[in-house]
Amino acid sequence: MIAETPRGLFCEGGGFYIDPWQPVDRALITHAHADHASAGSRAYLCATPGAQILRRRLPDATIASIDYGVPVTIGNVRVSFHPAGHILGSAQIRLERGGEVWVVSGDYKRAPDATCAPFEPLRCDVFVTEATFALPIYTWDPPSIVVREIVDWWHAARQEGRSCVLFCYVLGKAQRVLALLQPFADVPIRIHGALAGLTDAYRESGIALAATERITEDMRGPTLAGSLVLAPLSARGTVWMRRLPRPSTAFASGLMRVRGVRRQRGFDRGFVLSDHADWPGLLATIRETGAPRVFVTHGWSDALARYLAEAGLETQVMRTAFEGEAGEFGAAAAASADETGERS
Ligand SMILES: [Zn+2]
Ligand SMILES: [Zn+2]
Repeated sequence: MIAETPRGLFCEGGGFYIDPWQPVDRALITHAHADHASAGSRAYLCATPGAQILRRRLPDATIASIDYGVPVTIGNVRVSFHPAGHILGSAQIRLERGGEVWVVSGDYKRAPDATCAPFEPLRCDVFVTEATFALPIYTWDPPSIVVREIVDWWHAARQEGRSCVLFCYVLGKAQRVLALLQPFADVPIRIHGALAGLTDAYRESGIALAATERITEDMRGPTLAGSLVLAPLSARGTVWMRRLPRPSTAFASGLMRVRGVRRQRGFDRGFVLSDHADWPGLLATIRETGAPRVFVTHGWSDALARYLAEAGLETQVMRTAFEGEAGEFGAAAAASADETGERS
């Protein structure tokens, strides 16, 4: 049903690509992260809750959307979008033809997230899964615990008149943190300008977030003492940081599960919060699909494919241009990446 091509995953029966990384005529998009939603295609189709974000990401594109769970026929394939629980509007794409069902999951997670619809388990014959955190060391604590850690860190710094900078990806992670902070934030959370547009888009989509205040050019020093600031990784080490009084720095990512990574990257704190499934989440999800065949895309794909093969599944690694959180971390830390182009 789906073939790997130089432009992306192609469904010949429907004449469309899923998350193509090069321009095509017809692109079905699982979600608006830059590695899954690249510019230049003639027509895009995404799930309705994600349309607003995708339009911000691809302002010149022709974008149509469809509600979760509503099937459409494209070519000779029955297509429907189902919640993936990754970011607002993220979707698994279900394809059915001649009684065979494939599900392309894009990126997904099983942990609770108030900013998007929860992952919907689907039965299928072939499941295409990501593998961003497909190693047994990656297990997540409940977000309710992680947010307490963030609040405690902030309050301790505030007592000393310091500022806190929590680096996080601009789409999805930042808004999830803002949703988690909502019950705890007694003052507005300060945000870097790169987060403002997408945060507005979440609010416009009806997602409840903590109050925010965009950091403007004139805000510096004492004005920001005691503040919790959310910023993209690309702001790290730039002159922008100089406005913050004695900042304590932290990164919110699944990568922070590995203590050495946090130390090596020089963050004061690491908060283990990911928009991807952890190892038990990946295995449970694959089991729930009932799929005898599993294709593995980005991340620790070889490790996951090997594990599944040993468990008796037919499995294969699909080479894609999608990047896991691990790949992004290196890229963002190394250079001042296009802020709106970051991935989660
Ligand atoms: Zn993603
Ligand atoms: Zn991805």
